[in-house]
Amino acid sequence: MTFALDTSTSRPFPFDNSYARLPQQFFTRQAPSQAAEPWLIKLNEPLAEELGLDVEALKRDGAAIFSGNLVPEGADPLAMAYAGHQFGSFVPLLGDGRAILLGEVIDRNGQRRDIQLKGAGQTAYSRRGDGRAALGPVLREYIVSEAMYALGVPATRALAAVSTGQPVYRESILPGAVFTRVAASHIRVGTFQFFTARGDTDGVRALADYVIDRHYPELKDSDNPYLALYEAVCERQAALIARWLHIGFIHGVMNTDNMTISGETIDFGPCAFMDEYHAGTVFSSIDQGGRYAYANQPGVGQWNLARLGETLLPLFDADAEKAVELANSVIQQYGERFQIHWLRGMREKIGLATVEDGDLDLIQSLLAAMQASQADFTLAFRRLSDAGSADEDALFLSTFREPDAAREWLARWRDRLSRDEGRTEADRRAAMRVVNPAFIPRNHRIEQAINAAVEDADFSLFEALLSVLAKPYDDQPGFVAYMERPKPEERVLQTFCGT
Ligand code: AMP
Ligand code: MG
Repeated sequence: MTFALDTSTSRPFPFDNSYARLPQQFFTRQAPSQAAEPWLIKLNEPLAEELGLDVEALKRDGAAIFSGNLVPEGADPLAMAYAGHQFGSFVPLLGDGRAILLGEVIDRNGQRRDIQLKGAGQTAYSRRGDGRAALGPVLREYIVSEAMYALGVPATRALAAVSTGQPVYRESILPGAVFTRVAASHIRVGTFQFFTARGDTDGVRALADYVIDRHYPELKDSDNPYLALYEAVCERQAALIARWLHIGFIHGVMNTDNMTISGETIDFGPCAFMDEYHAGTVFSSIDQGGRYAYANQPGVGQWNLARLGETLLPLFDADAEKAVELANSVIQQYGERFQIHWLRGMREKIGLATVEDGDLDLIQSLLAAMQASQADFTLAFRRLSDAGSADEDALFLSTFREPDAAREWLARWRDRLSRDEGRTEADRRAAMRVVNPAFIPRNHRIEQAINAAVEDADFSLFEALLSVLAKPYDDQPGFVAYMERPKPEERVLQTFCGT
């Protein structure tokens, strides 16, 4: 494996690498591999600014740095060790097989953030993989990361995309690329499982202490900081998964190695947004049993968090029985936590400022009508935000194949709104428009952008999509076509990890 450091050293990153200071079993140091002919597709300049990076240096040296060809000064490149349950089966050793953590920076808000290259070559954890990424999945992750950010959903961010000028060999030969990801950290449920699988309780404790310091410093003085940590992670995940449901997001591969401790969405390879609403929607080609279907996500979240709880048992209490009791009391609250977040967000989506007992039923009736009539999830809520006049109502109803149930529902909704005191019609509309996006990264648009890039090296659709998705809650009259659901021939029924 070649590794050349350019003599004209580049220090665009004020690195401060805390993970690299952890005990050696946490990671394996690994320099990135060389790319043949790197070309900078995209640099996220606003994010680079937020991270306190030298944007001019990155514009100049970005192709070399973000391909892995030039390791910037201060980086301490490494691959992180982790384990994980993949579709329910435990794999004791996974780890970064095609990702290399360059290091960490403290951003302008004082937050520590990881900068990681994905697709920059093999590591100690590559098993039979080539450590590389194809252009399509890199663009997909770029688009969805930034869309999630603009939608207000915690997720890892996209700092850069480069093409390598080298082929990668999948079912077909594809252009290679490297994705540069920014995360609050890359610590996963599976990172804890890695130590538990080795009977390394000191490792679990060191990791938990590190996580409390980095992500939950306010818990340090709790009576039982580890139990408080577990509660806090459950809370963040419950809130996160509720947000996914509010925007019609399906992660696609919610393995325990793809669930962060920070509460950010991560590793959404085969993810997709629903067009028409159906609770059982699955896109991922590898999710044959629908384990990670849209409406299964909260339950899977709980399952994954139960696995996290198992790893923390020895830290909860020296008495094993007591430890299990404590873990159970936390995981049993998860369902209620999730329901609170979900219901609060759904109330907002239908424009309610007050709380009534019948609200859940009202929301479920709308979802049932949407499912029975193949209503487009995003469009229906956006048009409901603007409902009022007969014409505006008709636009909402036109998203349903069979509008009768939706028409009856509108009457029930208006009756409920009449008791939603303290809010004018204009307030209600405005409040709904900032939670019901006009634009989501629709699958067919992503596919079109990827195809143009892969087949014709044309990145204009990728750029257009990024600019539309940067303002998902604004009407962008020049881009109404991006609001629309796919035509029958444009529908994407399956997505792939592309690994
Ligand atoms: P993911 O599906 O991206 O969450 O990855 C699951 C596991 O497979 C992780 O340990 C990855 O590092 C590894 N992996 C995925 N793709 C590759 C690849 N092309 N080369 C090496 N390892 C890979
Ligand atoms: Mg993963």
